[in-house]
Amino acid sequence: MKAIQQAMSLPKNMMMALTSKDCEAEHVNEYGYKIKYPLYEANKLGAAYEQYGDQLICLQCIKEKQDALFSQKISDDAIEKEKNKRKNTMRYASVYSDQSIADAGFKNFEVMAVEEQLNKEKALKSVKHYKAKFKHEADEYFTTMLTGATGVGKSHLAMAILRNLNETLDVECVFVNVRRMLMMIKKSWNDPKYPYDQMYFIDLLSRVDFLVLDDLGNETGSDSEAKQWVKDILTEALEARQTKGTIVTSNYTRDQLTKMYSEDRAVNALISRLLKNTAPIVFKETNDKRVKLFDLDAPVEG
Ligand SMILES: [Zn+2]
Repeated sequence: MKAIQQAMSLPKNMMMALTSKDCEAEHVNEYGYKIKYPLYEANKLGAAYEQYGDQLICLQCIKEKQDALFSQKISDDAIEKEKNKRKNTMRYASVYSDQSIADAGFKNFEVMAVEEQLNKEKALKSVKHYKAKFKHEADEYFTTMLTGATGVGKSHLAMAILRNLNETLDVECVFVNVRRMLMMIKKSWNDPKYPYDQMYFIDLLSRVDFLVLDDLGNETGSDSEAKQWVKDILTEALEARQTKGTIVTSNYTRDQLTKMYSEDRAVNALISRLLKNTAPIVFKETNDKRVKLFDLDAPVEG
């Protein structure tokens, strides 16, 4: 009956005739019973003949093939959607201290001095290594550590690395300014509806394939309760990140950071691990890019 209905639903110009043979494929109905489906042959004048020639046709085989293609397409779409969702994490979940970092990339990184050029090249090399490690599913990663004074472009380069990885690999990335994260967590203490609490950040920081921890060490000036929150989050996140790439920016050197967190042994062990295999990118000579020097010797206006 089903086969007849299907035959009837075919366009008339397909022109097929029922034969006495059955399809040899094992077809099963919706209740799990094996069913034999009859084979058709195409009329030499019809459209079906162009497609199938003398080959006998099983309508159920055609239907199952189409169904399989359809569900394949559905799952491809779902995978594609999931990929986009992961890619969009960088855009929607990143936390900046300075919103202009959201647009930072290699293209708009201004190079004025030799040091900046060298550091840009180092950052590009770091991207290459991360890509290779990701593709080979390496179980040892390294931390790119950008250090130097405020405003020299550390965060910009860190974001450039992250953006490049996000655009070229199937990965989830996020940029998190540690101080801003702390402010958000604090807000969640007083507002139970505010979703960005400690658990949220532990999940985010642990989950992503590539993470920028921006301005690490700068939170240590805050109150001790807040400091403890940051330590808890870092401890959990870094534990989960041992086979993932992390990029750190800081005003402090590697040694200063280690010292800073050393009072807490558990944290210190993790920070040491984070900084053990480090690719340093150091800004020593670059001045604060955000500051425009005013020349006092210029002619006085007015
Ligand atoms: Zn069949």
